[in-house]
Amino acid sequence: MLAADFSNFGSEITNVTEAGADWIHLDVMDGQFVPNLTFGPPVIASLREYSRLHFDIHLMANNPHELIEPLIDAGADSITLHVEALTDLEKGINQIKSHGCKVGVAVNPATDEQEILPFLQSVDLILVMSVVPGYGGQSFIPASIDKVKRVRSIIEDANQDIELQVDGGVSTENSQALINAGATILVAGSFLFSSNNQMSNSILSLRGNVNQD
Ligand code: ZN
Repeated sequence: MLAADFSNFGSEITNVTEAGADWIHLDVMDGQFVPNLTFGPPVIASLREYSRLHFDIHLMANNPHELIEPLIDAGADSITLHVEALTDLEKGINQIKSHGCKVGVAVNPATDEQEILPFLQSVDLILVMSVVPGYGGQSFIPASIDKVKRVRSIIEDANQDIELQVDGGVSTENSQALINAGATILVAGSFLFSSNNQMSNSILSLRGNVNQD
């Protein structure tokens, strides 16, 4: 939703829901971990009235602990924390899980994917950032495709049921390559909101063909 018109946030949530999205991805930024500042639990709670879809919170904060419970109360269905955040990640993961909420870990483009290894047994989702987080509308970093492949093999080796999400500059230029590399969830912002096509067509065009190999 980072690319949405925030002055019409509720109706934008309705539009995305009616266009056929599976999840609503909400970027919570604290102005510290990333320079940008977006929105927090009160806004998310009010958005809940506009959609029953899964609310997927991407939490970019230096001190996520204090935001976890308010986010869950606001209606979060999953919360993803960054391995780069200045925090005790294991504690955050356990805090989220203790409320029955799904949990993810995210890695920035500059972060080695090996950083996720200690958390493989406890997460539902791994998020590979394909841009440096902070702002919408950035160009996709092509090396992300190989990183997705490497994370996919880490997940297979661990024999865990973990979603592999990609966030940043996702469009039809890279969606099929990402699916082939093993991504199971594509986050799209600018591609959906700036498209001249109907949003439902844009969402369909991203789904691609699931590689059976
Ligand atoms: Zn995000």
